[in-house]
Amino acid sequence: MAVYDALEALRHSTPRPLQRWFDPLMLAERIAFVGATGGHFASMVSMQRLRQLNPVMTQNLRCISILQSSSALLDELNAFAPTVIATYPSVAALLADVATQGLLHFAPREIWTGGETVSLAVRRRVEQVLGCSVHNSYGASEFMSIGWECSHRHLHVNTDWLILEPVDQQGRAVPAGQPSFSTLLTNLANHVQPLIRYDLGDQVTMHPECCECGSTLPVIEVQGRSDDSLVMVGRDGQPLTVLPLALTTVLEEEARVFDFQLRQQSKQSLVLRLDLHGAEAAPAVARCRSTLEKFALMQGLAPIRVTVELGHAIPRGHSGKLQRVVAQPRRTGRWCR
Ligand SMILES: [Zn+2]
Repeated sequence: MAVYDALEALRHSTPRPLQRWFDPLMLAERIAFVGATGGHFASMVSMQRLRQLNPVMTQNLRCISILQSSSALLDELNAFAPTVIATYPSVAALLADVATQGLLHFAPREIWTGGETVSLAVRRRVEQVLGCSVHNSYGASEFMSIGWECSHRHLHVNTDWLILEPVDQQGRAVPAGQPSFSTLLTNLANHVQPLIRYDLGDQVTMHPECCECGSTLPVIEVQGRSDDSLVMVGRDGQPLTVLPLALTTVLEEEARVFDFQLRQQSKQSLVLRLDLHGAEAAPAVARCRSTLEKFALMQGLAPIRVTVELGHAIPRGHSGKLQRVVAQPRRTGRWCR
C-alpha cells in the first residue's frame, strides 16, 4: 500500500501545481472518496490507512458509500462540500446530472476517476457542468495504481513496479499500436501475495510513441469495465438513477454471486442471468431476489420485479470483458441520432 500511495503522490499530475506546491499533503482540501465502503476494498483500505497515518487528514478525508440512496449520498456530499472527489465515472456523470437540476450545493475543483472506462463525452460533460478538471487513472484491486494521467491526458503505465502484457485470445503477445484481447498483470510490489501474469480482462493498446510530456513510461489506452447506470423509477414516481457499481457490489457481497448479468427490462423490472442449474441454484436465486429487493427499498425505488434466468452462459463482449449491468435500450425518435 505504501508503494501505491507513493506512486499516486509522485506521479499524479495536477491541474493546480502552484496550490500543490504550497500544500503538498493537500491539507487545505476536503477530499471525498465516493465508492464501495464498509468492505475490504482496495480503495477503501488505502483511504483508511492514510487517515490512520495522518491524523490531521481525518477531518478533511471522508469515505462516502454509493450503496445508500442517491438522495442520501447527495445530502452527505452537500454537507461535506468536498473540493476533490475521487470516484467512478458513473458517479461523476450522476453528479453532473444532479448539478444541472441545481441540487449540487458546492463546486468541486477536481474529480479523480478510476475503476471504469471514462468516455470522452462523459469527461467533457462533467468538466463543463461542474466547472472542474477531471483526472483519470487506471487501477485494479490487484494493483491500485497501474496507470496515471499526465498533463497531456495520456495514461502512463508504472512499468517500474509492474509488468503489463497485452495479449490476444490465445494469450500471445500483441504488438504495440494494436488493441489486445486481454491484459496480463505481474505485480512487482506485492511480496505477500504474488500475482504473476494475472488476467485482468481489460482491452488495452500500448502506444509505441513517446509522450510529449517527457515521461519515458509507456502510454496506454484502456477499454475496461463499462457497465451502465440504470434509470429506474422512485417511490415518488420520479426517475432515479441506480449506479452499476452499487448493484454489482451488493450482488457480490450480500448475494455472493460473481458470474451474473443484470439486464434492465423496464423502469421497474430487471432480468438476472446466472450460469447455475437446477436445485443447486435455488438458494442463490433466493439470495439474489431478496438482496435486490432490499437494495431497491433502500435506494427509494418503487417496487421492482426481478426475473431470474438460469443456465445461461454469460455472454462476453469483444474484449472478453463481461458487461454485467445493461440498461434498457433508449428509444430514440426516427430522426434522432
Ligand atoms: Zn505524458
